[in-house]
Amino acid sequence: MEKRSFYADQHIHTSFSGDSDTPPELQIEKAIELGMERICFTDHHDYDVVSDIDFNLDIPRYFEEMRRLKEKYSGTIKICTGIELGLQAHLGDYLAKTAAEYDFDFIIGSVHFVDGLDPYYPEYFDRNSDNAYEHYFDTVLDCIEKIKCYDSLGHLDYIVRYGAKLGYSYSYGQFAEYIDPILKRVIADGKALECNSGGLSRGLLEPNPCTDILRRYGELGGELVTLGSDAHEPDTLGCCFERCGEILKSCGFKYYAVYENRQPKMYNL
Ligand SMILES: [Zn+2]
Ligand SMILES: [Zn+2]
Repeated sequence: MEKRSFYADQHIHTSFSGDSDTPPELQIEKAIELGMERICFTDHHDYDVVSDIDFNLDIPRYFEEMRRLKEKYSGTIKICTGIELGLQAHLGDYLAKTAAEYDFDFIIGSVHFVDGLDPYYPEYFDRNSDNAYEHYFDTVLDCIEKIKCYDSLGHLDYIVRYGAKLGYSYSYGQFAEYIDPILKRVIADGKALECNSGGLSRGLLEPNPCTDILRRYGELGGELVTLGSDAHEPDTLGCCFERCGEILKSCGFKYYAVYENRQPKMYNL
């Protein structure tokens, strides 16, 4: 078991993501400042979506830049090359091919689009006002039943980041019957669950997913948890990790998983 210096951030965006202007170097400098020994970039790749933002990652150019950065910072900080794949049930073959074609260290699978619409936009809630959360969780389950080429399920209750602002009430207990099958599927497939501090850095009281879901995942036998800030700018890189560490420990976890070459290695929390 590895001792930690400071929690490694394994969910970081740069200007390779359509929704970030941050040069990778600025993220690296922030991680070094925080005392991290390793980080993993996970830029967005949401294929086949209609959006004002281009969420397609130029993967060959991304790898080229990662190679340059690994060399530049060699001996200072370990840099891993990951990706955040946008899961949509009909993309199973395409995503599996993409995951196999490149040497990623780590793949986060995240559901950002439901029926082609990101819950980031209030229109999602207009369209699904009676079952906004249920429909999101059903979509996540459908995706991970069909798609297996990811390592960690990203920000499971992502929708809460936007639903909370619109006044939609939420707790694990209210949606347990929708969430438990997701956790069971993640565990049965040997995947990890991400603890994403992005909820906390966006002013919510909980990470994504919330404490009760993280605890339930442990109760059901889940052991692999990854930690990521979802930082799109240096200010939030590593944000609230000490808090997440405390939350995970309170849920009974002793370790968190750090991926390299798609393999987890456990580090003390
Ligand atoms: Zn995401
Ligand atoms: Zn992200």
